[in-house]
Amino acid sequence: MENIRIQDDLYTYVNQETLDKLVIPDDKPYAGGFAELADGVEKIMMDEFASMTESKNYPNEHLARACELYAIAKDADKKAADGITPALKALAILDEVKTAADFSRLYKKLSLQSIPTPINIGVDTDMKNTKQRLVYIQGAGVILPDASYYKPEMAEQKEQILGIWTGVAKAVMAKTDLAPALQEQYVNDALAYDEIIGGLAKTSEEWAKYVEMYNPMDADQVSAMLTTIDFGAILTDLFGHIPSTVVVTEPRYFEGFEKVFNAENIELYKHWAYVTGLLKACSFLSEELRELGGAYGRAIMGVAKMQSIEKFAYNLASNTYSDPVGIYYGEKYFGEEAKKDITEIVRQIIDTYKKRIKTNEILGDATKEKAILKLSKMGVKMGYPDKARAIYDHLVFNPEDSLFDIMLSLKAIRELDALSKLDQPTEPENWAMPGHMVNACYDPFVNDITFPAAILQAPFYSLKQTRSENLGGIGGVIGHEISHAFDSNGAKCDENGNINDWWTKEDFERFEAKVQQMIEQFDGIELPWGKVNGSFIVSENMADNGGMSVTLDIMSKTEGASYEEYFCNWARVWCEKARPEFLKMILSVDVHGPSILRANMPPRNFAEWYTTFGVKDTDQMYLPEDKRIVIW
Ligand SMILES: [Zn+2]
Repeated sequence: MENIRIQDDLYTYVNQETLDKLVIPDDKPYAGGFAELADGVEKIMMDEFASMTESKNYPNEHLARACELYAIAKDADKKAADGITPALKALAILDEVKTAADFSRLYKKLSLQSIPTPINIGVDTDMKNTKQRLVYIQGAGVILPDASYYKPEMAEQKEQILGIWTGVAKAVMAKTDLAPALQEQYVNDALAYDEIIGGLAKTSEEWAKYVEMYNPMDADQVSAMLTTIDFGAILTDLFGHIPSTVVVTEPRYFEGFEKVFNAENIELYKHWAYVTGLLKACSFLSEELRELGGAYGRAIMGVAKMQSIEKFAYNLASNTYSDPVGIYYGEKYFGEEAKKDITEIVRQIIDTYKKRIKTNEILGDATKEKAILKLSKMGVKMGYPDKARAIYDHLVFNPEDSLFDIMLSLKAIRELDALSKLDQPTEPENWAMPGHMVNACYDPFVNDITFPAAILQAPFYSLKQTRSENLGGIGGVIGHEISHAFDSNGAKCDENGNINDWWTKEDFERFEAKVQQMIEQFDGIELPWGKVNGSFIVSENMADNGGMSVTLDIMSKTEGASYEEYFCNWARVWCEKARPEFLKMILSVDVHGPSILRANMPPRNFAEWYTTFGVKDTDQMYLPEDKRIVIW
């Protein structure tokens, strides 16, 4: 890999040395970039947990509980003594399901006991009026990483992966008290049931068009569609009454619901629920079962070893108490100076966006005005929230219980809390991500961006880095998140996050043509581990393109700006070494493109790339001018 020229491959030119030295930890599917920061945060916080637990000195009640859960999850002897019994006790409720009527009567109990069901009922923001909430229904997920594996062209991969799953399922079922012949039958039935679900469930590509989830219907209409269950009775059980509107997120699945659940296939359903439910339970059972049950997930990601018990316990506790843990991390490790500086960069990026919208050639004046309004009303959450959500006061458990029962009870508390909020106003002040998470996001239904403290460090951002480097790093990410307000999904929501058609017809057609160009720019690119689906990842690619466009604009007005530093740091943040199994799998489940493309594709659309490095038409990162796309 010598003599890589920057003009041919920016990503490899910048990252080769790091990649050569980078070793993927045995218990992880990838290393570098985001993962390296996440590992760093994990290490810091694991030390914090260990010392809090040892000194019994907790900053607040929430963290005291988090540490208590951590200690229980870390207690291998106690978990071994509890064995598989807690999960089998919970699954025993399936014995009571003899008819479809039993299923409807027991639905709430099944759901609160985390038993897999073919219909999932929840409460979420009304996408057309984001101040209020609605009931949403969703189908079951498949055993495979994605329903698209059931397409004929994926047959080979499907067989291979289901083969792995079958082995794991049999090994776990062997630990139950069922007779060997029954164990075998349960596993085969689970596979047969999964195939029924797979024929109707949405694929990740379909879920990625999230505005299409919004299909509100009268509850009566939904009841009429779900003839094999007593939907009205289930709703009454959950909410005390029948809510007038239900959002059907997967119309195809629910139109075919009779095939998924009917009087004839109840046994099939029960065996599927038993096996998949037990496999999910494994991580909260003994170390032996955590190892056995986790083998499927590790195999599809190419991971050799399971997480150490300490890491597992920390991750479980910090995910369960994520608000308090994020606040603790933010208060201790994120400075006011950095917060002020980055907030300033965000302001600058939003202002630059507004200016660019004003001169944008695809939008007419009326649409421009709406787009600028959307930017003006965009909220910014930087670092970590002031306080944890009220729910954390209620996440209390009995430390004498098994880890499995504790997790079940905490999940039930959350679920009941979510259901109880149906008729209460939404809480846009809640953070979508906790402070210790290395990520960032735009929430289309709130119209705000969130930057947890954990991502606000080098190489994304550092007070020690140059302005150009910070613009290529965190600047690009901020611009990316803001661009989601105007990607192929975000464009369908207005300044209040409501699904609303705020475009003129002509403007939207011009916009759609750009979306199509962006799909084509990526579609069919061959990588050593598979082919890219341009339409699946278009929103993220539009956001990367917008992020680069707006930060390059700021670069042009920044004194002493170095485009070389800018582009190199843009590529540096995407440095990643991943296992082939993982790379292959995420092609069909992740709306983000592979890291190397996120580093190398956007620059070639911008003149600055060509002038900075003298890129010519003989270079691999050259794109003819008529193929270059700049949307925002
Ligand atoms: Zn994104």
